[in-house]
Amino acid sequence: MADLNWSGPVDFHCHLDLCQNMRAEYARCESARCLTLAVTTTPKAFSRNEGMARNGHFVRAALGMHPQLVAQRASELSLFEELAPSTRYIGEVGLDAGRRFYPSFERQKIVFERVMALCARLGDKVISIHSVRTARQVLDVVEQTGAHRTCVPVLHWFNASESEIRRALDLGCYFSVNEQMLQAPKGRKLLETVPLERVLTETDAPFQSDEKGGNSPGDVRGAIRLIANAYSKDNSATEARIRRTATELLAN
Ligand SMILES: [Zn+2]
Repeated sequence: MADLNWSGPVDFHCHLDLCQNMRAEYARCESARCLTLAVTTTPKAFSRNEGMARNGHFVRAALGMHPQLVAQRASELSLFEELAPSTRYIGEVGLDAGRRFYPSFERQKIVFERVMALCARLGDKVISIHSVRTARQVLDVVEQTGAHRTCVPVLHWFNASESEIRRALDLGCYFSVNEQMLQAPKGRKLLETVPLERVLTETDAPFQSDEKGGNSPGDVRGAIRLIANAYSKDNSATEARIRRTATELLAN
């Protein structure tokens, strides 16, 4: 675990195994002392990630079942259930009602409900949750399964109305935010409602893309600047607060 003098960044949602050179990205996060939640998209990908994370101190591998892959990979749910007791970190899981993935939405719901009910029962999980056009449905599942009582839901790239954000706060959710989302009005709005204590930084690398090519894993400097600005704090105080939150969630 990170030692007391640890002063690196926090990337609470990125896909190291989908970057061009997975091993190099693991090594880079370690040498940058970046506290990283390396999410995965299929249960089959977990063991390889877990093996690499185990060699270092700063990266945690999470067991995932991405909603965009449920149509092809729902059969891996049994592997998910088999592996879940062995890790504290779950993600990426969730729902996606974007046009491309809407055809599998009913299936996604069944899978996500099973995943969250399992987490609720096992307890002590940190869960990184995807919610494209499904803020309300995601919160319904969190609440109905009781996952928020025994686990920590972290809403990744959460685009929602103010009342949904308040509901998520009441359920004890955390929010991982990236530079790209904070450049949009909705992202800035989120920070007006959420206290800094519930905010974490992420990159969603390698998916976050803009004309500059997006951020690499661990490159959260732009996000920190935008968050600091939103809370009228300086960058280092903002970073320190986020580091403390992440350390609390990822300890053990
Ligand atoms: Zn992601």
